[in-house]
Amino acid sequence: MTFRIAYLKLTIVYVFIVMVMSIAFSVVIYQLASNELGKGLDRQTGYMRRLPLNDVMLMQLRDIENERQNSLDESNMQLKLNLFYFNLFILLLSGISSYYFAKKTLKPIEDMVVSQNHFTADASHELKTPLTAMRTEIEVLLRNNKITLADAKALLTSNLEEIAKLESLSNALLKLSKYQDQVRVEFREQNISDIIIEAYEKLAPLAEKRDIKFNNKIIDINVLGDKQSLVELFIILIDNAIKYSPPKSLINISITKENKWISVSIKDYGIGMKASDIPYIFNRFYRSDSSRNKEQVNGYGLGLSIAHKIVELHQGKILVSSKPAKGSEFTVKLPAL
Ligand code: ADP
Repeated sequence: MTFRIAYLKLTIVYVFIVMVMSIAFSVVIYQLASNELGKGLDRQTGYMRRLPLNDVMLMQLRDIENERQNSLDESNMQLKLNLFYFNLFILLLSGISSYYFAKKTLKPIEDMVVSQNHFTADASHELKTPLTAMRTEIEVLLRNNKITLADAKALLTSNLEEIAKLESLSNALLKLSKYQDQVRVEFREQNISDIIIEAYEKLAPLAEKRDIKFNNKIIDINVLGDKQSLVELFIILIDNAIKYSPPKSLINISITKENKWISVSIKDYGIGMKASDIPYIFNRFYRSDSSRNKEQVNGYGLGLSIAHKIVELHQGKILVSSKPAKGSEFTVKLPAL
């Protein structure tokens, strides 16, 4: 609604500018045309006045002059009318086209505001959930007159878990806003295999816990990029591969070079995704139903949007292929040096 008013305001501004130009143009045209017509008339009658004329001829000349003046007035009137219709046409045309251009100008801003509002609502919701859980637990415990040390410890442990969730959410939000602002990071030559190994080593304990094995085909190759964000990118993808895989499964990581691209593929044999989920997984806070409900995997749906921003920052691409219950493959393509 507010944007409709903004469209109208901008339309009025555009129409006003066009109409000021069109009216100024019409006034100039009118002045020039009526001056020319008047001059033509004066030239004709001026020539006749210089001739030796008798009274009858002078009377006739006056009649001719009157007749001409009338036709000049008529022509001026007609010109005014034509210019009025012309301006009316311009008003209509500029009204329609200005509304179209106003919409086009404001659309990206409107989209940004709508997405910002969604983001604020989603972030508030995610922040509220652990806070509500903590509050409820504390209130329940306080209502109990005979709190034991074990009760208090259980409450604190559970509160700590919620605080850890809040911490990871705020970290994810900070990262997202960092990459959202298209930070100007200094790109240097980076060995992609070192980056993968660094990300992999950070997650190895998590994989070990679930008895997940890796089959890595890593080649020594350099790309231009920012080390910290590239490590973050592969941590997100490998972490997801672990999170969404069953225990004792396998994850393949491979690096290949094809023409202008260096591709890093992370393939798991986990829960996979429905084709209908794939278009949305890079949206902020999007989690497929299977990861929200059935599998109860922790997360906020922010990892892949951060990953997408990092890939964008490196002028790369990220591709996904996935089948439910078969597994998923994320391929990051970075421009080769
Ligand atoms: P999170 O994992 O925290 O929910 P992400 O943004 O990393 O958030 O992922 C968004 C969604 O994409 C996940 O909720 C999940 O449904 C799906 N997804 C991502 N990676 C995988 C994967 N390797 N296997 C299956 N589903 C995945």
